[in-house]
Amino acid sequence: MDHALRRRRLGRALEELGCDGLLVARGPNVRYLTGFTGSNGQVVVAADGRAVFLTDGRYEEQASREAPDLERVVYRDRRPPHHAAAAARALSVAALGFEASLPYGEVEALRAEAAGIRLVPVEGVVERLRRVKDEEEVRALERAQELTDRAFEEVLATLREGVTEREVALALEAAMRRAGAEDRAFPPIVAFGEDAAEPHHRPADRPLAPGDVVKLDLGALVDGYHADMTRTVSLGPPSPDVRELHGLVLRAQEAGIAALRAGARAREVDRAARAVIEEAGLGERFPHGLGHGVGLEIHEGPMLWPGGEEEVPAGAVVTVEPGVYVPGLGGVRIEDVVLVAPDGPRVLGRASRELIALDGRRRER
Ligand code: ZN
Ligand code: ZN
Repeated sequence: MDHALRRRRLGRALEELGCDGLLVARGPNVRYLTGFTGSNGQVVVAADGRAVFLTDGRYEEQASREAPDLERVVYRDRRPPHHAAAAARALSVAALGFEASLPYGEVEALRAEAAGIRLVPVEGVVERLRRVKDEEEVRALERAQELTDRAFEEVLATLREGVTEREVALALEAAMRRAGAEDRAFPPIVAFGEDAAEPHHRPADRPLAPGDVVKLDLGALVDGYHADMTRTVSLGPPSPDVRELHGLVLRAQEAGIAALRAGARAREVDRAARAVIEEAGLGERFPHGLGHGVGLEIHEGPMLWPGGEEEVPAGAVVTVEPGVYVPGLGGVRIEDVVLVAPDGPRVLGRASRELIALDGRRRER
């Protein structure tokens, strides 16, 4: 990954914000700009792309390995704001931006240390750059999705009456790790029957029973990049209600994916899918946004939701995940990760979206 190029891009973006340097402290942003994956690192980037990396003694080795091209300050005594201010001075920064998410106490400490430097809170500047993925990032996301697909197929083949949600969640995690993931991207969601009416159900001890819908939301983590996929299947033949619901959600998802063109407004993409569900009279049962960007974080920009004014850029990678949830009956969500390529949307995963009816040992559509 070309971290120096990213820092130069950031430098150019800073001028519009009225600063000539930025203190970056949010972990995913630090990683994006430097390659450093440890839990404590900050980087001060100047408008011309020069940068100073700050960390503590625990990460001296790791930082020299992961961010070898950067000037590094390894501190053992004073707190980070002292060193951030010193780095800004060394880079001749006159107006230092800081992420608005920086804890209040850190901002106060920075203010005390950075006498003579103007401090400017900025919001989402690195996050905006991160919305557009480069080739290497797309490859990591594709790989994460591939491992997710594999784990899904593997666990699906083992689902039996009586197995609990918790057991299936554990099996999904193990399958992703065995397939080569460095970790799960998030704790898998496994919901059976009526539990599937909760969009983010926490797996519990409910045993799987014939006729239950099975909602699985999982993702693998590869090189820090997050996959995210949801499928809803059924143990035994699904009821006509579930079949109808699944067909509706699938049509909504297809409409959402088709609307996902570079330059489309986020709320218009959301609308394309939501309209399908509203026309069926179930708009109230689709209580969340259509999707979210994925990358170094599981939820990042661009956000596809009814209030989303931003344009989706070419190179964005987002989920499209409409869901309809009916208390007492259950719920259906279908989620895929989609790359907004210049020539149109491209789904990264390969798992079937059909309503699969699991039948003991056999699996049939
Ligand atoms: Zn998901
Ligand atoms: Zn998602």
